[in-house]
Amino acid sequence: MTVVAGSLGYPRIGPKRELKKALERFWAGQSSEAELEEASRALRRDAWRLQQDRGLQHVPSNDFSLYDHVLDTAVMVGAVPSRFLGDGDQIGLDTYFAMARGARDVPAMEMTKWFDTNYHYIVPEFELDQRFRLASTKPLDEFLEAQTEGIRTRPKLLGPVSFLLLGKARHDGLRPLDLLEALLPAYEALLGRLEAAGADWIQVDEPCLVLDLSTDQRRALSTAYHRLNAAAPALRLLLTTYFGDLRENLSTALALPVAGLHLDLVRAPQMLERALPALPDSLVLSAGVVDGRNVWRTDLDRALATLRTAVDALGSERVVVAPSCSLLHVPVDLDQETALDPELHPWLAFAQQKVEEVALLARALNEGDDAVASTLQARRDEQARRRSSTRIHDPAVAERTAAISASMLRRISPFAKRKQLQQERLRFPSLPTTTIGSFPQTDDVRRARAGFKAGRIDAAEYDAFLEAEIERVVRFQEEIGLDVLVHGEPERTDMVEYFGERFAGVAVTQQGWVQSYGSRCARPPIIYGDVSRPEPMTVRWAEYAQSLTQRPMKGMLTGPLTILEWSFVRDDQPRAETARQLALAIRDEVGDLEAAGIRVIQIDEPALREGLPLHREDWDAYLAWAVDAFRLASAGVRDETQVQTHMCYAEFNDIMPAIARMDADVILIEASRSQMDLLDAFGRFRYPNEIGPGVFDIHSPRVPTADEIEALLRRALDLISRDQLWVNPDCGLKTRAWREVRPSLTAMVEAAGRLRASAPASTP
Ligand code: GLN
Ligand code: ZN
Repeated sequence: MTVVAGSLGYPRIGPKRELKKALERFWAGQSSEAELEEASRALRRDAWRLQQDRGLQHVPSNDFSLYDHVLDTAVMVGAVPSRFLGDGDQIGLDTYFAMARGARDVPAMEMTKWFDTNYHYIVPEFELDQRFRLASTKPLDEFLEAQTEGIRTRPKLLGPVSFLLLGKARHDGLRPLDLLEALLPAYEALLGRLEAAGADWIQVDEPCLVLDLSTDQRRALSTAYHRLNAAAPALRLLLTTYFGDLRENLSTALALPVAGLHLDLVRAPQMLERALPALPDSLVLSAGVVDGRNVWRTDLDRALATLRTAVDALGSERVVVAPSCSLLHVPVDLDQETALDPELHPWLAFAQQKVEEVALLARALNEGDDAVASTLQARRDEQARRRSSTRIHDPAVAERTAAISASMLRRISPFAKRKQLQQERLRFPSLPTTTIGSFPQTDDVRRARAGFKAGRIDAAEYDAFLEAEIERVVRFQEEIGLDVLVHGEPERTDMVEYFGERFAGVAVTQQGWVQSYGSRCARPPIIYGDVSRPEPMTVRWAEYAQSLTQRPMKGMLTGPLTILEWSFVRDDQPRAETARQLALAIRDEVGDLEAAGIRVIQIDEPALREGLPLHREDWDAYLAWAVDAFRLASAGVRDETQVQTHMCYAEFNDIMPAIARMDADVILIEASRSQMDLLDAFGRFRYPNEIGPGVFDIHSPRVPTADEIEALLRRALDLISRDQLWVNPDCGLKTRAWREVRPSLTAMVEAAGRLRASAPASTP
């Protein structure tokens, strides 16, 4: 018997974002359901063939999704919230997309991050008398579809316990896990059908095993897997976990009646030593040794050593070689990157290359290193070149990070003193108004940028366009009477990519798309070496914008943690070290903005919370270096320079002390979804600095009225003091149209004005 090569999932979007294009055509009414289905079928077939051709034996099916695999699971078990149900219980494509994206008067289901990735899933909703049934047989259909292509796949399911835990109950008394009994028959029915269709291995993902679980939750896993195993005894269930160490849940996982267990040995190599002696006799180990979360080539020698340890302990018939997790989280094919630095190219592997690595590792185990000797040697040489490359190592950066001192992490004076100096200089009215940075990215803006990139318009022309755009945005803000202005960010496609393009040590790709949600993809920069900032990145635009107005113009930067979180990060040094380098680069920019006369600087950190480790006991360690990185980036300014930050779309209540420790003078924070909750937390915590809770939701085309905003602000004033409160939208306005932005901001400024007028005379 030999070692098997497997995979946990392949990107769905296609090498050229074919899925995005097919979806958008369909949504725009430009193609039929049959055409969409045809495009999806081709994507599935290509992915199966590719993986099989490259030498995988366990090729997954049902890893494809038209929008999201959690949504697919909800539909599969008939968990369609009643607001989407018409007559009859057919769940057609219309219903499916309505759940994902909303329909005329029906709001979409909520979306949130998949564990610690930047992939967003649709949050299942459970109602009071929630029923389940096997409402769709997608996993079976795709298994059969692959069979007609001559490929026997390993169907992939999201396990019932993780599915419930990822969802939320729409009623207070209801706990999702209480629904397990009701849910299991749908899974049992599906497994029965798969068994009858001749399936063998089934991959069941239970990523909740890498979270802190309660006794009840562990018991639920046991109940579930005893039932599933009994429902289809001929199937072999491979229980898959990823993104971390199972810690105390390892014994739970090992006690489940499954045929195989997948461990992420990239994130948690230390698990192997604990798992091997404890693995029950017949259990197969799927060893995740190829990093499914990052873009680096695998250190094959190290991976082989890990795999040989497993083979020695278990025998080759009980080992599967695999990526650490689904390859959903990496770009599709490196070979499309023709413009990439040739020195960097051989260090990288995207999904296709990772599949090849898995196959190669299995071959080395089965046929001996000699069979792949030349590849192994070539890889060793590349690794050595990478380790010593001058592209990576910049002594100047090393010197600077070594010289970081405690005083560099501290503003000169405490907040109370700064506040006074800033007030003297900036002379804001009470309840100052501002925005988060971006203004509508109109077709004109996009067209000009694309034209410039394609060489259709030259730099001078493009600059003139940007200046005109900035002037328009500045005049508008003056006209409606905002207090702190912004330039509108027309020069930026993306708040991370813009800086990624300008840092040394960071590369950007042409086709390195990764699915973010549905049809949306992002192209994360690749941080491959020591990071520095060769020259100012934003000063020219900030300076120009400031020259147009007497009012303070904000300098707009993306913070080190957000750049770190939304990029592929080098794997040869701790994240904290990379964060420090990014922080120093941003600090340089902050210094230059200040020197250019910019009096207010905003450093956005929407992803601060996303970096939180999955286990709560690791939070403090992360927050310690993360907050230090923000402080390093921001604290180099004079007292009278105001530092603002912005965060959005996350739960902040439980990290309030860390937010306070960032010590930004002002935090502008998304709040309109949970206004009272959030402010309550800031109030209870006695947040010391100033705060601008967003007063309208920028994701909605709805224009708020001044009355509404005034009411919100009055509620805010019940919880935080008048001299702390700012007035601003939830987030950047770039996705909105001017016809929405104009009246919304006008109403906002008016509401602030009314409250000022009604205020008791302020004491100076
Ligand atoms: N300054 C950015 C903008 O206004 C912030 C975006 C964000 O928070 N994601 O677009
Ligand atoms: Zn935001």
